[in-house]
Amino acid sequence: MEIPFNKPYYTYKAIENIDNVIKSGKIGADGYYTSKCRELLEKRLNAKNLLFTTSCTHALELAVKLIDLKKDEQVIMPSYTFPSTANCVLADGGKVVFTEVNHDDLCIDTSKIEEKITPMTRAIIVVHYGGSPCDMDKIMDIANRNDLFVIEDAAQGLFSTYKGRQLGTIGHFGCYSFHETKNVSCGEGGAILINSNDEHLIRRAEYIRQKGTNRIDFNNKNVEFYQWVDVGSSYCPSEMLMAYLYAQLESMDIIHKKRLNIFNRYVNVLDKIKSDKIFFYSKGNDEEDFNAHIFYIIFKKADYADGFIDILKDNDIMAYRHFVPLHLSKMGLALGYQENDFPYERDLYKKLVRLPIYADMTEEELSKVEEKIIDAIKEI
Ligand SMILES: *Cc1c(COP(=O)(O)O)cnc(C)c1O
Repeated sequence: MEIPFNKPYYTYKAIENIDNVIKSGKIGADGYYTSKCRELLEKRLNAKNLLFTTSCTHALELAVKLIDLKKDEQVIMPSYTFPSTANCVLADGGKVVFTEVNHDDLCIDTSKIEEKITPMTRAIIVVHYGGSPCDMDKIMDIANRNDLFVIEDAAQGLFSTYKGRQLGTIGHFGCYSFHETKNVSCGEGGAILINSNDEHLIRRAEYIRQKGTNRIDFNNKNVEFYQWVDVGSSYCPSEMLMAYLYAQLESMDIIHKKRLNIFNRYVNVLDKIKSDKIFFYSKGNDEEDFNAHIFYIIFKKADYADGFIDILKDNDIMAYRHFVPLHLSKMGLALGYQENDFPYERDLYKKLVRLPIYADMTEEELSKVEEKIIDAIKEI
Protein backbone atom coordinates (compact mmCIF):
# COMPACT_ATOMS: atom_id res chain seq x y z
CA MET A 1 0.00 0.00 0.00
CA GLU A 2 1.33 3.34 -1.04
CA ILE A 3 1.79 5.93 1.69
CA PRO A 4 0.57 9.17 0.12
CA PHE A 5 2.10 12.55 0.81
CA ASN A 6 -1.21 13.95 1.97
CA LYS A 7 -4.76 12.76 2.54
CA PRO A 8 -7.73 14.92 3.60
CA TYR A 9 -9.01 13.97 7.04
CA TYR A 10 -12.08 11.73 6.81
CA THR A 11 -15.14 13.07 8.57
CA TYR A 12 -18.33 11.02 8.40
CA LYS A 13 -20.28 14.00 9.75
CA ALA A 14 -19.66 15.80 6.44
CA ILE A 15 -22.07 13.47 4.63
CA GLU A 16 -24.81 14.18 7.13
CA ASN A 17 -24.23 17.93 6.87
CA ILE A 18 -24.27 17.92 3.07
CA ASP A 19 -27.45 15.84 3.11
CA ASN A 20 -29.03 18.51 5.33
CA VAL A 21 -28.09 21.19 2.82
CA ILE A 22 -29.49 19.25 -0.12
CA LYS A 23 -32.77 18.60 1.71
CA SER A 24 -33.06 22.24 2.76
CA GLY A 25 -32.81 23.35 -0.87
CA LYS A 26 -30.57 26.23 0.18
CA ILE A 27 -27.48 25.15 -1.71
CA GLY A 28 -26.21 28.63 -2.62
CA ALA A 29 -23.96 30.84 -0.51
CA ASP A 30 -24.19 32.34 2.96
CA GLY A 31 -26.68 30.02 4.60
CA TYR A 32 -26.77 27.99 7.80
CA TYR A 33 -23.37 26.26 7.54
CA THR A 34 -21.56 29.40 6.44
CA SER A 35 -22.67 31.14 9.60
CA LYS A 36 -21.89 28.08 11.75
CA CYS A 37 -18.37 27.94 10.29
CA ARG A 38 -17.93 31.67 10.77
CA GLU A 39 -19.08 31.56 14.39
CA LEU A 40 -16.77 28.68 15.20
CA LEU A 41 -13.74 30.14 13.45
CA GLU A 42 -14.11 33.66 14.78
CA LYS A 43 -14.36 32.28 18.30
CA ARG A 44 -11.38 30.01 17.91
CA LEU A 45 -9.27 32.75 16.25
CA ASN A 46 -10.51 35.38 18.68
CA ALA A 47 -11.21 37.63 15.71
CA LYS A 48 -14.05 39.37 13.90
CA ASN A 49 -15.02 40.05 10.30
CA LEU A 50 -14.24 36.71 8.75
CA LEU A 51 -15.65 36.18 5.27
CA PHE A 52 -15.48 32.87 3.45
CA THR A 53 -14.23 32.77 -0.11
CA THR A 54 -13.85 30.08 -2.75
CA SER A 55 -10.07 29.95 -2.19
CA CYS A 56 -7.14 31.64 -0.49
CA THR A 57 -6.28 32.93 -3.96
CA HIS A 58 -9.60 34.80 -3.94
CA ALA A 59 -9.08 35.97 -0.35
CA LEU A 60 -5.75 37.49 -1.42
CA GLU A 61 -7.40 39.12 -4.43
CA LEU A 62 -10.05 40.58 -2.17
CA ALA A 63 -7.40 41.95 0.21
CA VAL A 64 -5.55 43.67 -2.63
CA LYS A 65 -8.81 45.19 -3.91
CA LEU A 66 -9.55 46.50 -0.41
CA ILE A 67 -6.28 48.42 -0.23
CA ASP A 68 -7.12 50.05 -3.57
CA LEU A 69 -3.79 49.23 -5.12
CA LYS A 70 -3.04 51.68 -7.94
CA LYS A 71 -1.23 50.94 -11.18
CA ASP A 72 2.50 50.32 -10.68
CA GLU A 73 2.30 50.49 -6.90
CA GLN A 74 4.59 47.93 -5.31
CA VAL A 75 3.99 45.04 -2.97
CA ILE A 76 6.89 43.28 -1.24
CA MET A 77 6.68 39.51 -0.75
CA PRO A 78 9.01 36.51 -0.53
CA SER A 79 10.05 34.84 -3.77
CA TYR A 80 9.69 31.48 -2.02
CA THR A 81 5.90 31.18 -2.07
CA PHE A 82 2.94 29.95 -4.10
CA PRO A 83 1.98 31.92 -7.27
CA SER A 84 -1.29 33.16 -5.72
CA THR A 85 0.66 35.47 -3.40
CA ALA A 86 1.86 37.35 -6.49
CA ASN A 87 -1.07 36.93 -8.89
CA CYS A 88 -3.35 39.12 -6.80
CA VAL A 89 -0.96 42.07 -7.14
CA LEU A 90 -0.47 41.72 -10.89
CA ALA A 91 -4.21 41.28 -11.41
CA ASP A 92 -4.76 44.81 -10.11
CA GLY A 93 -1.92 46.37 -12.10
CA GLY A 94 0.57 46.43 -9.25
CA LYS A 95 4.23 45.48 -9.22
CA VAL A 96 5.61 42.51 -7.35
CA VAL A 97 8.86 43.08 -5.45
CA PHE A 98 10.41 39.82 -4.36
CA THR A 99 12.59 39.40 -1.33
CA GLU A 100 14.38 36.66 0.57
CA VAL A 101 13.44 34.20 3.29
CA ASN A 102 15.27 33.07 6.43
CA HIS A 103 17.43 30.04 5.72
CA ASP A 104 15.84 27.93 8.44
CA ASP A 105 12.10 28.61 8.91
CA LEU A 106 11.71 29.91 5.33
CA CYS A 107 9.64 32.89 6.49
CA ILE A 108 10.34 36.38 5.13
CA ASP A 109 13.76 37.75 6.16
CA THR A 110 12.77 40.95 7.93
CA SER A 111 16.28 42.41 7.66
CA LYS A 112 15.87 42.65 3.86
CA ILE A 113 12.49 44.36 3.72
CA GLU A 114 13.30 47.99 4.39
CA GLU A 115 15.91 48.30 1.65
CA LYS A 116 13.15 47.45 -0.85
CA ILE A 117 10.71 50.11 0.28
CA THR A 118 10.22 53.01 -2.17
CA PRO A 119 7.65 55.82 -2.36
CA MET A 120 5.61 53.44 -4.55
CA THR A 121 5.44 50.65 -1.94
CA ARG A 122 1.94 50.07 -0.57
CA ALA A 123 1.99 46.70 1.15
CA ILE A 124 3.91 43.67 2.34
CA ILE A 125 2.51 40.17 1.94
CA VAL A 126 4.05 37.74 4.41
CA VAL A 127 3.75 33.96 4.15
CA HIS A 128 3.76 31.79 7.26
CA TYR A 129 5.60 28.87 5.70
CA GLY A 130 4.50 25.45 6.89
CA GLY A 131 2.65 27.04 9.79
CA SER A 132 5.76 28.73 11.22
CA PRO A 133 5.04 32.33 12.14
CA CYS A 134 6.84 35.22 10.48
CA ASP A 135 8.36 37.77 12.85
CA MET A 136 5.17 39.82 13.06
CA ASP A 137 6.43 42.39 15.61
CA LYS A 138 9.20 43.45 13.25
CA ILE A 139 6.94 43.35 10.20
CA MET A 140 4.21 45.47 11.82
CA ASP A 141 6.83 47.92 13.06
CA ILE A 142 8.28 48.33 9.55
CA ALA A 143 4.76 48.67 8.12
CA ASN A 144 3.67 51.25 10.67
CA ARG A 145 6.77 53.38 10.22
CA ASN A 146 6.35 53.34 6.43
CA ASP A 147 2.57 53.52 6.26
CA LEU A 148 2.17 50.14 4.56
CA PHE A 149 -0.53 47.50 4.69
CA VAL A 150 0.32 44.00 5.85
CA ILE A 151 -1.50 41.07 4.30
CA GLU A 152 -0.84 37.71 5.95
CA ASP A 153 -0.91 34.84 3.50
CA ALA A 154 -1.87 32.38 6.22
CA ALA A 155 -2.88 29.67 3.73
CA GLN A 156 -0.59 27.32 5.67
CA GLY A 157 -0.91 29.11 8.98
CA LEU A 158 -4.40 28.35 10.29
CA PHE A 159 -4.32 27.62 14.04
CA SER A 160 -0.64 28.40 14.49
CA THR A 161 0.21 31.29 16.78
CA TYR A 162 2.76 34.06 17.13
CA LYS A 163 3.31 35.14 20.75
CA GLY A 164 -0.08 33.70 21.61
CA ARG A 165 -1.92 35.42 18.74
CA GLN A 166 -3.45 33.41 15.91
CA LEU A 167 -1.76 33.83 12.53
CA GLY A 168 -3.93 35.86 10.18
CA THR A 169 -5.22 38.08 12.98
CA ILE A 170 -2.15 40.33 13.28
CA GLY A 171 -1.77 42.11 9.92
CA HIS A 172 -4.45 44.31 8.33
CA PHE A 173 -5.79 41.27 6.49
CA GLY A 174 -5.38 37.53 6.99
CA CYS A 175 -6.02 35.01 4.22
CA TYR A 176 -6.66 31.30 4.79
CA SER A 177 -6.96 28.28 2.53
CA PHE A 178 -9.18 25.22 2.84
CA HIS A 179 -7.71 23.59 -0.24
CA GLU A 180 -7.55 19.81 -0.28
CA THR A 181 -3.86 19.93 0.69
CA LYS A 182 -4.30 22.09 3.79
CA ASN A 183 -4.81 20.83 7.36
CA VAL A 184 -8.51 21.66 7.43
CA SER A 185 -10.13 21.54 4.01
CA CYS A 186 -13.26 21.48 1.89
CA GLY A 187 -11.61 20.70 -1.45
CA GLU A 188 -11.42 24.29 -2.59
CA GLY A 189 -12.10 27.12 -0.18
CA GLY A 190 -10.70 30.04 1.74
CA ALA A 191 -11.44 32.95 4.03
CA ILE A 192 -10.35 36.49 4.65
CA LEU A 193 -10.10 38.22 8.00
CA ILE A 194 -10.48 41.97 7.94
CA ASN A 195 -8.67 43.11 11.05
CA SER A 196 -10.23 46.54 11.20
CA ASN A 197 -13.20 48.27 12.75
CA ASP A 198 -13.77 50.37 9.64
CA GLU A 199 -17.42 49.65 8.80
CA HIS A 200 -16.99 51.07 5.31
CA LEU A 201 -14.12 48.69 4.56
CA ILE A 202 -16.00 45.68 5.91
CA ARG A 203 -19.08 46.58 3.87
CA ARG A 204 -16.95 46.99 0.74
CA ALA A 205 -15.50 43.53 1.26
CA GLU A 206 -19.05 42.17 1.30
CA TYR A 207 -19.94 44.07 -1.89
CA ILE A 208 -16.86 42.89 -3.78
CA ARG A 209 -17.42 39.32 -2.64
CA GLN A 210 -21.07 39.47 -3.75
CA LYS A 211 -20.51 40.45 -7.40
CA GLY A 212 -20.38 44.15 -6.58
CA THR A 213 -23.92 44.14 -5.26
CA ASN A 214 -25.37 45.31 -1.94
CA ARG A 215 -26.96 41.95 -1.34
CA ILE A 216 -25.78 42.04 2.28
CA ASP A 217 -27.72 45.28 2.92
CA PHE A 218 -30.75 43.86 1.13
CA ASN A 219 -30.64 40.64 3.17
CA ASN A 220 -30.32 42.68 6.35
CA LYS A 221 -33.34 44.74 5.15
CA ASN A 222 -31.33 47.97 5.19
CA VAL A 223 -32.18 48.82 1.57
CA GLU A 224 -35.22 48.34 -0.58
CA PHE A 225 -33.42 47.41 -3.80
CA TYR A 226 -30.72 44.89 -4.47
CA GLN A 227 -28.37 46.54 -6.95
CA TRP A 228 -24.89 47.08 -8.40
CA VAL A 229 -22.83 49.31 -6.08
CA ASP A 230 -19.14 48.49 -6.62
CA VAL A 231 -16.74 46.63 -8.90
CA GLY A 232 -16.96 43.10 -7.64
CA SER A 233 -16.51 39.46 -8.30
CA SER A 234 -18.01 36.16 -7.16
CA TYR A 235 -16.10 34.84 -4.18
CA CYS A 236 -18.79 33.12 -2.11
CA PRO A 237 -18.52 29.38 -1.48
CA SER A 238 -21.65 27.27 -1.72
CA GLU A 239 -23.34 25.80 1.35
CA MET A 240 -22.31 22.33 0.14
CA LEU A 241 -18.68 23.23 0.74
CA MET A 242 -19.39 24.96 4.04
CA ALA A 243 -21.29 21.89 5.27
CA TYR A 244 -18.23 19.76 4.58
CA LEU A 245 -15.95 22.38 6.10
CA TYR A 246 -18.02 22.54 9.27
CA ALA A 247 -17.40 18.86 9.92
CA GLN A 248 -13.68 19.44 9.39
CA LEU A 249 -13.62 22.45 11.70
CA GLU A 250 -15.36 20.46 14.40
CA SER A 251 -12.49 17.96 14.13
CA MET A 252 -9.75 20.56 14.08
CA ASP A 253 -8.34 19.70 17.50
CA ILE A 254 -8.00 16.02 16.61
CA ILE A 255 -6.38 16.90 13.27
CA HIS A 256 -4.03 19.24 15.06
CA LYS A 257 -3.01 16.70 17.69
CA LYS A 258 -2.44 13.91 15.20
CA ARG A 259 -0.34 16.03 12.86
CA LEU A 260 1.74 17.33 15.73
CA ASN A 261 2.43 13.77 16.88
CA ILE A 262 3.72 12.77 13.43
CA PHE A 263 5.75 15.98 13.21
CA ASN A 264 7.40 15.38 16.57
CA ARG A 265 8.18 11.79 15.71
CA TYR A 266 10.04 12.97 12.57
CA VAL A 267 11.93 15.54 14.64
CA ASN A 268 13.00 12.80 17.06
CA VAL A 269 14.20 10.51 14.28
CA LEU A 270 16.31 13.24 12.70
CA ASP A 271 17.61 14.45 16.04
CA LYS A 272 18.95 10.93 16.61
CA ILE A 273 20.51 10.51 13.16
CA LYS A 274 22.45 13.80 13.27
CA SER A 275 23.32 13.39 9.58
CA ASP A 276 25.97 15.66 8.08
CA LYS A 277 24.10 15.43 4.76
CA ILE A 278 21.31 17.58 6.18
CA PHE A 279 21.47 21.37 6.44
CA PHE A 280 18.22 21.88 8.36
CA TYR A 281 14.90 20.22 9.16
CA SER A 282 11.59 21.49 10.54
CA LYS A 283 11.74 22.39 14.19
CA GLY A 284 8.22 23.65 14.71
CA ASN A 285 8.22 26.37 17.31
CA ASP A 286 7.80 26.82 21.00
CA GLU A 287 4.29 28.14 20.63
CA GLU A 288 1.61 26.09 22.25
CA ASP A 289 -0.32 26.20 18.99
CA PHE A 290 1.69 24.96 16.07
CA ASN A 291 -0.29 23.43 13.23
CA ALA A 292 2.42 21.10 11.89
CA HIS A 293 1.41 21.84 8.32
CA ILE A 294 4.70 20.78 6.71
CA PHE A 295 7.65 18.71 7.78
CA TYR A 296 10.61 19.47 5.56
CA ILE A 297 14.25 18.49 5.31
CA ILE A 298 16.77 20.74 3.55
CA PHE A 299 19.68 18.64 2.31
CA LYS A 300 23.13 20.07 1.73
CA LYS A 301 23.09 18.93 -1.90
CA ALA A 302 20.34 18.56 -4.51
CA ASP A 303 21.70 15.05 -5.24
CA TYR A 304 20.91 13.98 -1.69
CA ALA A 305 17.33 15.20 -2.07
CA ASP A 306 16.95 13.35 -5.41
CA GLY A 307 18.30 10.13 -3.93
CA PHE A 308 16.20 10.44 -0.80
CA ILE A 309 12.96 10.93 -2.77
CA ASP A 310 13.81 7.99 -5.07
CA ILE A 311 14.53 5.60 -2.22
CA LEU A 312 11.30 6.51 -0.42
CA LYS A 313 9.41 6.12 -3.69
CA ASP A 314 10.88 2.65 -4.20
CA ASN A 315 9.33 1.88 -0.83
CA ASP A 316 5.94 3.30 -1.85
CA ILE A 317 6.34 6.44 0.25
CA MET A 318 5.55 9.75 -1.42
CA ALA A 319 7.82 12.63 -0.44
CA TYR A 320 7.67 15.86 -2.42
CA ARG A 321 9.63 18.99 -3.17
CA HIS A 322 7.91 22.36 -2.84
CA PHE A 323 7.74 25.79 -4.48
CA VAL A 324 9.83 26.72 -7.47
CA PRO A 325 10.79 30.22 -6.25
CA LEU A 326 8.67 32.75 -8.10
CA HIS A 327 11.62 34.89 -9.19
CA LEU A 328 13.05 32.07 -11.27
CA SER A 329 9.78 30.63 -12.47
CA LYS A 330 8.77 31.42 -16.04
CA MET A 331 6.62 34.35 -14.93
CA GLY A 332 9.27 35.71 -12.57
CA LEU A 333 11.88 35.75 -15.33
CA ALA A 334 9.38 37.46 -17.63
CA LEU A 335 8.98 40.17 -14.98
CA GLY A 336 12.71 40.83 -15.25
CA TYR A 337 14.11 38.78 -12.40
CA GLN A 338 17.31 36.80 -12.89
CA GLU A 339 17.99 33.33 -11.71
CA ASN A 340 20.86 34.48 -9.50
CA ASP A 341 18.98 37.28 -7.75
CA PHE A 342 18.38 35.14 -4.66
CA PRO A 343 21.00 32.38 -4.57
CA TYR A 344 19.64 30.69 -1.46
CA GLU A 345 16.15 30.35 -2.92
CA ARG A 346 17.61 29.38 -6.31
CA ASP A 347 19.12 26.24 -4.76
CA LEU A 348 16.62 25.66 -1.96
CA TYR A 349 13.86 24.16 -4.05
CA LYS A 350 16.15 21.43 -5.31
CA LYS A 351 17.35 20.56 -1.81
CA LEU A 352 14.08 20.66 0.12
CA VAL A 353 11.93 17.55 0.61
CA ARG A 354 8.59 17.33 2.43
CA LEU A 355 7.61 14.14 4.25
CA PRO A 356 4.10 12.61 4.31
CA ILE A 357 1.93 14.10 7.03
CA TYR A 358 -1.82 13.66 7.44
CA ALA A 359 -4.08 13.11 10.42
CA ASP A 360 -5.32 9.69 9.28
CA MET A 361 -1.78 8.25 9.05
CA THR A 362 -1.71 4.92 10.88
CA GLU A 363 0.95 3.88 13.37
CA GLU A 364 2.05 1.23 10.91
CA GLU A 365 2.49 3.79 8.13
CA LEU A 366 4.32 6.20 10.40
CA SER A 367 6.73 3.52 11.65
CA LYS A 368 7.47 2.49 8.09
CA VAL A 369 8.24 6.08 7.08
CA GLU A 370 10.49 6.53 10.12
CA GLU A 371 12.40 3.37 9.30
CA LYS A 372 12.81 4.22 5.61
CA ILE A 373 13.97 7.77 6.37
CA ILE A 374 16.81 6.31 8.42
CA ASP A 375 17.73 3.83 5.65
CA ALA A 376 17.51 6.45 2.91
CA ILE A 377 19.70 8.98 4.70
CA LYS A 378 22.37 6.29 5.21
CA GLU A 379 22.22 5.25 1.57
CA ILE A 380 22.33 8.60 -0.23
C1 LIG B 1 -2.20 26.86 -0.79
C2 LIG B 1 -1.62 28.22 -0.84
C3 LIG B 1 -2.28 29.28 -1.48
C4 LIG B 1 -3.49 29.08 -2.34
O1 LIG B 1 -4.58 28.60 -1.67
P1 LIG B 1 -5.90 28.22 -2.49
O2 LIG B 1 -6.95 28.07 -1.44
O3 LIG B 1 -5.61 26.94 -3.22
O4 LIG B 1 -6.18 29.33 -3.43
C5 LIG B 1 -1.74 30.55 -1.38
N1 LIG B 1 -0.61 30.77 -0.69
C6 LIG B 1 0.06 29.77 -0.08
C7 LIG B 1 1.30 30.09 0.69
C8 LIG B 1 -0.43 28.46 -0.14
O5 LIG B 1 0.26 27.48 0.45
